[in-house]
Amino acid sequence: MVNVCDLQVMKPLLAEYGFHFSKAKGQNFLIAPWVPQSIAEQAGVDGTAGVLEIGPGIGPLTQQLALRAEKVCAVEVDERLKPILDITLGDFDNVEILWDDVLKLDIPALVEERFPGLRPMACANLPYYITSPILTALLEAECFDSVTVMIQKEVAQRIAAAPGTPDYGAFSVLCQYYAEPELLFEVPAHCFVPQPKVTSAVIQLRVRKERPWDIPDPELFFRVVRASFAMRRKKLSNGLASGFPELGKTGAAEVIQAAGFDANVRGETLGIPEFARITNEISKRRGL
Ligand code: SAM
Repeated sequence: MVNVCDLQVMKPLLAEYGFHFSKAKGQNFLIAPWVPQSIAEQAGVDGTAGVLEIGPGIGPLTQQLALRAEKVCAVEVDERLKPILDITLGDFDNVEILWDDVLKLDIPALVEERFPGLRPMACANLPYYITSPILTALLEAECFDSVTVMIQKEVAQRIAAAPGTPDYGAFSVLCQYYAEPELLFEVPAHCFVPQPKVTSAVIQLRVRKERPWDIPDPELFFRVVRASFAMRRKKLSNGLASGFPELGKTGAAEVIQAAGFDANVRGETLGIPEFARITNEISKRRGL
């Protein structure tokens, strides 16, 4: 197997095909072999798994996934990497590369087509400039067993943050609605070339099979969450009144009281069950 994390191997390989890193595509390639090994291992990839990888680059994580999974489907937007991946993944017959932008794909359809009978998982060292849209798409696809990704450490902390802490926000709620996040390990900048300016972290999101809340209208729930965080330093009633003009200030205050909260409560202290109560109160009033 080509040791793609070895700079003595990587540099001549990239030079041979005239490849230059694209900052715009978020290209920071791994040069520490323990990282892709640990990601594949701790993700729990095994012979029952069909793994969707986003952004294989020159294939360090793809190799580790392919050694463990039944099938790997890797989506890469940069076609300049094609001749290099032909070499670095040449030993594997269970890897398929799709040359596309992951955000343009119908992920549930792809998973159904490529991984019949397998346990679908997503695994990636994500391009940091589009971490949130990719994670949102992977979670909203509602077809993975788990999503294990390397991202900027601060974003990982935001995803796993608890209500009432400074890192907690609408993105924490979105991720925690779909999955249970766990920070696995940190990865220092010197493990990549070129080195990013930030520390990275690997986070696993174990997708919930059942959600333990009564949320009949998820679309309304997420509208409530967005409105509640839009005016972070203000009372929840201000955020709700502005996000739901149809309620007005009085209606927003009534909803908060009917849901059992203090009139001065702030959105950032509420967890998913509390946002659910607010949502269901708004629903009730709409039904009147
Ligand atoms: N997996 C490799 C590694 O760990 O060394 C490369 C990771 S690099 C941080 C991110 C990869 O995502 C790059 O190969 C980049 O070209 C690719 N990429 C960026 N935007 C993408 C998109 N919209 N769809 C698919 N791949 C994308």
